[in-house]
Formats: sequence, C-alpha cells, structure tokens
Amino acid sequence: MQERLRPLIAGNWKMNGTSAALEQIARLKTLLGEAGNIDSDVLVCPPATLLERASQRAQGSALRIGGQDCHANPSGAHTGDVSASMLLDAGASHVIVGHSERRADHGETSETVRAKAAAALAAGLVPIICVGETEAERLAGTANQVVGEQVKFSLPETFGETPIIVAYEPVWAIGTGRTPTIDDIAQMHAHMRQLLVARFGKAGEAALLLYGGSVKPSNAEEILRTPNVNGALVGGASLLADDFFSIIVAA
Ligand code: PGA
Repeated sequence: MQERLRPLIAGNWKMNGTSAALEQIARLKTLLGEAGNIDSDVLVCPPATLLERASQRAQGSALRIGGQDCHANPSGAHTGDVSASMLLDAGASHVIVGHSERRADHGETSETVRAKAAAALAAGLVPIICVGETEAERLAGTANQVVGEQVKFSLPETFGETPIIVAYEPVWAIGTGRTPTIDDIAQMHAHMRQLLVARFGKAGEAALLLYGGSVKPSNAEEILRTPNVNGALVGGASLLADDFFSIIVAA
C-alpha cells in the first residue's frame, strides 16, 4: 500500500475572470481560514492578468497561486508570451504546462511541454504536467500507450529537489460532465505510477498524480479516494470559491 501523499487540489480558471473574480480568492481565503486544519495543498491558477493581485489577496493564507502556461525560453522576442520567471515574480509557485487545450489550440507537442517544464524548474516554479488521451484514442484501446508516451516525452530528465506533479486529464472528460469510471482512473494512475517509479525511483513514488476532467463537489470524494490519485486539477468547479472549497474538504 502506498503511503499517503499530501494531496494537491489545484484550480484552473482558464480564460475566465476579471478583477471581480478576485473576490473568489478572498472568499476562498476566508473559507480556508475558518476551516483551520486542511490536510491538502491548495492552488488556484487564474489568468496571467490576475496573478499578481491574486497572490497579494492570498497572502497570509495557505492558498498558493499558479500560472496556466509559460514559454520555454527565459526572455526574448516572443510577443504575447509569459516566461516562468515572470510568473514567479508575479507571485506564482506553480505553473500548469501541456494542458490539452494548449496542446490542441497551440500545437504543443510533448517535446514543447518538456521544454516548458524544464523552464519552469529552472525558474524555481513547480510544473504541473498534463497528459490525457482523446475519446477516439480511448475507444481505440490506445489510452495507455498514448498517456505513456506523453509521460515519457513531456517530463524533463530530472526534477532535482522539486516534486514531480503529473495531471491525468482525459480530453473527453474536460468540461463535459463525463468522467472515466473509478476503475479506469485507478488503472491509468497505476500505469503512470509504474512508469514514474521505473524512471525516477523514489521521486516517482512521491510524485503527485492529479486527476482532472469534470471534477465537482458531487464526485470529488470518490475520485480522490482512488489509489494513486493524489489530488485534482479542477476547471469549471474552481471558479466559485464555495464549490472549490467543497472539493478541497473532500480530499
Ligand atoms: P473541468 O476542466 O474541471 O472544467 O472539466 C479541468 C481542466 O481542464 O483542467
């Protein structure tokens, strides 16, 4: 039996939220403060425009703030992009890389994702590396192979002292209200654990494997109880602090 790892519950706001959404950060801080002893790390990844103000609002609480993407280069002629050190400077501790929306909308390959994860590590951020199969791949029976290759090629060679965090997000479960069966989640997470232990040894045993895709207050507890699920990456249900908090307490 694997020793219990301290879970990470991460919210991904995607391209949602202007200044008014900072109230959700304030509300979450209040809820976490009132609850006192929360046995999970809690992270919110707002859009880049809100990062600095969100991290200021979160100060004095355990709530951490992260970015949703970073460029693979530390600086330079990359109009519209944000580097890992800029995220750090704005108050981020983590950054999501390789989300399936980035892979699909921006043509990011696992090699791109690996370079971004390496840039995050070099800047002192913790990357949350996303993987996941499409519905066609699941139906074709290739989910294990696809996710295995994404894990293989999207992760840098070494993480140093930084924890390894991989989020399994089946593309067909994101924003759809559909989730894999608990058995399927358990199977995929066991598969990823095996790959990470084979490659990274003890660091693989300690890696946090998050599940993402239509996590909500009503299914969070069951999903988070699944072996080798060490947290969640939550999209839609992280936008309102009260919903997100219900997921946090389910962990
Ligand atoms: P969802 O998104 O919770 O809205 O399905 C999850 C994600 O894309 O990280």
